[in-house]
Formats: sequence, structure tokens, C-alpha cells
Amino acid sequence: MRRRDLLHAALGLAMTKTKKRLPVLFIGHGSPMNAIDTPWSRGFRALAKLLPQPEAIVSVSAHWYTRGTFLTGEPRPRTIHDFGGFPRALYEIEYPAAGKPDLAARIAKLLAGAELRTDWGLDHGTWSVLRHLRPAADVPVVQLSIDARLAPERHLEIGRALRPLREEGVLVLGSGNVTHNLRHAFQHGGEGTPQWAARFDSEIARALEQRDAAHLVRALDTEEGRLSHPSPDHYLPLLYAAGAADERDGVRFPIEGFDLSSLSMRAALFGS
Ligand code: ZN
Repeated sequence: MRRRDLLHAALGLAMTKTKKRLPVLFIGHGSPMNAIDTPWSRGFRALAKLLPQPEAIVSVSAHWYTRGTFLTGEPRPRTIHDFGGFPRALYEIEYPAAGKPDLAARIAKLLAGAELRTDWGLDHGTWSVLRHLRPAADVPVVQLSIDARLAPERHLEIGRALRPLREEGVLVLGSGNVTHNLRHAFQHGGEGTPQWAARFDSEIARALEQRDAAHLVRALDTEEGRLSHPSPDHYLPLLYAAGAADERDGVRFPIEGFDLSSLSMRAALFGS
């Protein structure tokens, strides 16, 4: 073998070896204002430094809550401003990441019964966070919807089915909040964190550390669970992230704490 070929072979080997198994990230996105500059968004920017460069991102956002499981199938997903009553600057934000229809089609095959759609795009659960994690919007993004009809176990299973993508450099991102009771947050935002929120949040952290799937799938069935999530949409992305993690992964919490009294901003990063 010629010297140059040897070099290429060695480089090829190195590239194969360094093709990283990507971590899995759950992030508490909180208020749409975190798309701009807030203490929490500064946390997102610091968190970005913990992430390797992904080939693509599959984002499960609390804000695409559907009847059925869908994937964004467009090559240029639009930026959806799915909120009301916020400053104009927020509606002017565009997050111009490309889509990845071939990846979306492969995931649809992995998840029997999932379908591609081109009438959605990237909602603020995805872009308000990615604009800090990947400010250059240089990584293609596919959104995966949450089927509102499924039992919690099924969301965990769909997360499990996403595991092989990590070996291909795909970052699985769940974007919701560990606690999310907006009525409480609006009425009591200036007060201390209520015990139900603190307990729910710390029990979830414990369950993630101990890989206690039984707790994760039943967490909403308690009084604290009902108070923490009057509707489950912001909890369920966590089950996708926990499902995509496996026994090789540890978990750490690069962001913890509460916004508006009861809204947990906990982020969980799963990886070895
Ligand atoms: Zn939200």
C-alpha cells in the first residue's frame, strides 16, 4: 500500500472510531422568552458546550401533541411561532435549520405506524432551545410528534426504538418540563417553590438516576403528578429521552431549579 493510501486508511479508521455515540438530552424549555436572553437561556448556552457535534437532531417537543405519531418530512421546516401575547421580537425569530426527510423516513420505519407530514415544522419547544444549543442552525432537525392517545409505557418504548440512531451521530432531544402547571406559575410566580413541585422534581431525578422506569411511567398518577402536570404534554418528552438512554448511560443534570415558582427547568443529559 502506498504511503498516501496508508494515511487515508488510517484516517478512515480514525473517523470510524471517533463516530461518537451521541448522548441523549432532555431539556426544560420553560417560557418562550428563553428563546432570547434569560438566565435560563444562558444555562442552555453553557450546556451546549457539553454536547458533541451531531449529524442530525431528532426533537420531541411538548408542543407537537397529536393523534398519531408523525415526523416532519420537509427539507426546509418552517419556524412556527406557536404562542400568543409575547413581545414582537419573539415572532421575528427564524431558526433556519434544514430538515432531513431521509432520516425522517427511516425513523418512520423504525416506529411502525409513524408517518411523515409537511404541515408542521419546528415549534418553539424545539427552536427556543436549539437557537442556544446550535446558534448557527447548522445541524438538520427532524421533529417527532407525541401521540396523545398512548399510555406512558408506549412513549418510553418509542424512545427505546430511537436508540440505534445515537450510534449514527443523531442527538435525541426531548423538550418539555419536569413540572408544568402554568395556572400555578402565573398565579404564584413570585412565591417560593411549592412542596408538590419540589418533591415531584426530585423524585423524577432519583428515578432517572436509578433507571426506575416503573416510577417514570406512573409518576403522573399521584396527587403530586396531577398538580405537576394538569396535562401530560410537557412530561412525555422526558419518557422519550429516558427510553433512548440505556444501561451504559449515566445521567447528570446540567440545569436545575424552578422558574415562576413551580416550573422545573431541570435538564437531564444521558451519556457514558
Ligand atoms: Zn412549552
